[in-house]
Amino acid sequence: MQLQLSACSMQAIAPAQVIRGQSAWQEGLPLISDLCKHPALLGRSQATQHLRQELNLDLRSQGLEPVELTLEHDCCEEDLKQLQEQLTINRCDAVIAAGGGKVLDAGKLLADRLGIVCITVPLSAATCAGWTALANLYSREGAFRGDVSLHRCPDLLIFDHNLVRQAPSRTLASGVADALAKWYEASVSSGSSSDGMIQQAVQMARVLRDQLLLDAEDALKNPGSEAWVRVAEACALTAGLIGGLGGAQCRTVAAHAVHNGLTQLMACHGMLHGEKVGFGILVQLRLEERLGGNQLAGQARRQLLPLLQTLQLPVTLKDLGLGKAGLDELQAACCFACRPGSDLHHLPFTVSDSDLLEALVSMETEAHDTHRQPMESQA
Ligand SMILES: [Zn+2]
Repeated sequence: MQLQLSACSMQAIAPAQVIRGQSAWQEGLPLISDLCKHPALLGRSQATQHLRQELNLDLRSQGLEPVELTLEHDCCEEDLKQLQEQLTINRCDAVIAAGGGKVLDAGKLLADRLGIVCITVPLSAATCAGWTALANLYSREGAFRGDVSLHRCPDLLIFDHNLVRQAPSRTLASGVADALAKWYEASVSSGSSSDGMIQQAVQMARVLRDQLLLDAEDALKNPGSEAWVRVAEACALTAGLIGGLGGAQCRTVAAHAVHNGLTQLMACHGMLHGEKVGFGILVQLRLEERLGGNQLAGQARRQLLPLLQTLQLPVTLKDLGLGKAGLDELQAACCFACRPGSDLHHLPFTVSDSDLLEALVSMETEAHDTHRQPMESQA
């Protein structure tokens, strides 16, 4: 009997080189010199300006001539167009993106479009954007528009613990929520895949979740600890590797779709990516329980909720700054999350806008119930 061969798949699994550790940046400098001569150093926030100044000086000490570029708004077409012009005018041969997810995504997209070297230097562990061959596009105001697959992962990823440790602890908590989503989403979208690499990626997402359940609280309390290193690298590196191994089929599901919907509302623009995704996991589990009849999902939600609360992550609309949001606004967010082609439809059952709205609103009661009886479910 002949084996039926499946179609080939092309995957961008990992950056060509990854340096991680206490002084990864210093050790990475000679590698940067090998890769380029006129890099652009891309950043955004005022808070990391002093770090980028240091990086700039270090690059100059290597004989490089970096051009400093700033992302004004978000990873949006208006910014990208303007930055692409500057990269071309300055004849840059590489983009060194130093910052959070939006900066890393913008840097990867620019390098991809111009066919130049891409170097990512995450300044927080809030996302795995430094690793992946994916970029999210937003509007100038930060409303999610769509994601773009890139030709490859970065040429070099530098994960310097000393740099990342300077980020506010809120970014690490947010990274934990985003990394936890890997398991809750991949197990739904790809749990029954017959592809070995995808199965292994899903199992890796489970191990990653377990590690985060064990270590996250300690990591946040003790930024100097080994737990911090494990958690920060899990969020910024391993989560990216799982995405790379799992490939296009190992996709996001409702947790990220809820995030995408929430970005449409101005009132929660101050919230970080993972903060919205963490809330999205709770909503997804609620949908799985209520509409999919999955009792385990209910149990998983009750297990996850106290952890998110301990990490001071938002678990209700109010926590997300949406306590005063009108019904029409919430409906608009749900409508976006449920639009045709949304990843939310990778759930194995149908979800309507009003089902989703019910799930969003129900989080308020859930959070209070757990808060009142924290020990009961564990007894
Ligand atoms: Zn994410």
